[in-house]
Amino acid sequence: MPLRIDDVNEVLDTVGPMARQELQTILLLGGTNKQLPFGRGALYGAYYPARQLIAVHAFPKHRMQVASNRPPSPTIAQSIRRVGGEIKSVSGKTVVSLDEPAVGRFLKWHVLVHEIAHHIDRHNPKTRRKTESFAEWFTTSVGFSST
Ligand SMILES: [Zn+2]
Repeated sequence: MPLRIDDVNEVLDTVGPMARQELQTILLLGGTNKQLPFGRGALYGAYYPARQLIAVHAFPKHRMQVASNRPPSPTIAQSIRRVGGEIKSVSGKTVVSLDEPAVGRFLKWHVLVHEIAHHIDRHNPKTRRKTESFAEWFTTSVGFSST
C-alpha cells in the first residue's frame, strides 16, 4: 500500500515552498524483501542528499500487527497513537496494530514529512543524532499539527 501522488502533493503543499526547493525526486516504492533487514524490522523511508531524492517504501503487511515482550518507547507509542494505531496488552505481550488508514497516515505524515525534514535541513551539517532529532521535531510539529 504505497502512497499516491495526491498524498505527496498534499504533504508538500502543507510543508510549504521550502519542501520543493531543489527537491529532484520522490520515489514511491513497492515492497521488497531488501527493505526488511534495516532498522527495527523495516526501512520506511530514506533521503539521499547527493541526489536530493526521497524514497518512501510500501509498508510491509507483516508489520501491521506486531507482538513483542516490551512496550514501545513513549515516543514511538505517541507516534503509533497519533496515526490511529492501537497498543494493547494481550497475555503479557504488547500488541501493536495498524489498519490500512493508519498505515497511510503513518507513511504520509510521519515517514514522508520526516524525509522532507532531512531535505530542508540538508545544508546544516551536524551529527546524525542531531539530524534525526531535527527531523523528529519537524515531523511532530509540522506533520501532525496538520492532520
Ligand atoms: Zn531520519
